[in-house]
Amino acid sequence: MDFNSPLFDRIRASRKKEEEPRPQTAACDHPGCREPGLHRAPKGRQREGQYWRFCLEHVRAYNQSYNYFNGMDDDAVASHQKADQVGHRPTWKMGVKGSAGMRSKIDTSGRVADPFNLFRSAAAQRNPATAPRVGLAARKALETLGLDENADAAAIKTRYKLLVKRFHPDANGGDRSFEARFQEIIKAHGVLRAQGLC
Ligand SMILES: [Zn+2]
Repeated sequence: MDFNSPLFDRIRASRKKEEEPRPQTAACDHPGCREPGLHRAPKGRQREGQYWRFCLEHVRAYNQSYNYFNGMDDDAVASHQKADQVGHRPTWKMGVKGSAGMRSKIDTSGRVADPFNLFRSAAAQRNPATAPRVGLAARKALETLGLDENADAAAIKTRYKLLVKRFHPDANGGDRSFEARFQEIIKAHGVLRAQGLC
């Protein structure tokens, strides 16, 4: 066999082409889209650190519909929605401004955004004529967690976990200004647990 023949060169050339690594940029994750996925978008709750890859058009669409509560327990979502309604305070504006900046706001700087309406409880504005379901201590504890008195055990548990994660001193680069809030949260949870509410 003549290894220097032009035919053999052609075979060699086509082999080489097949073995070339695929391009680094994966395609957009939007079904059917073949644009390169140059933009990252967080997958959402409980999939922290995971990202979709989208083209510009689809990352925009995704950011507009992005909902941090995706995957959250139904009860917890309901309790958020209820708190929003009672307080007449729309807090579901997240994701409008794009996800990258939003993520960092949620993760580290509770001072900038308050998407969970943690600091101003709807319970504080509630009609006093409404008969309370729980006692004063529990109500205050729920308020500390940003929940109203209708929050069930699952909602309390979910919220507690979220807040601990958010205000734990380790999560805030040792920023001590979060410690007081953190202690309040722990204490409030203790009250609720002692009363068998969670
Ligand atoms: Zn796309």
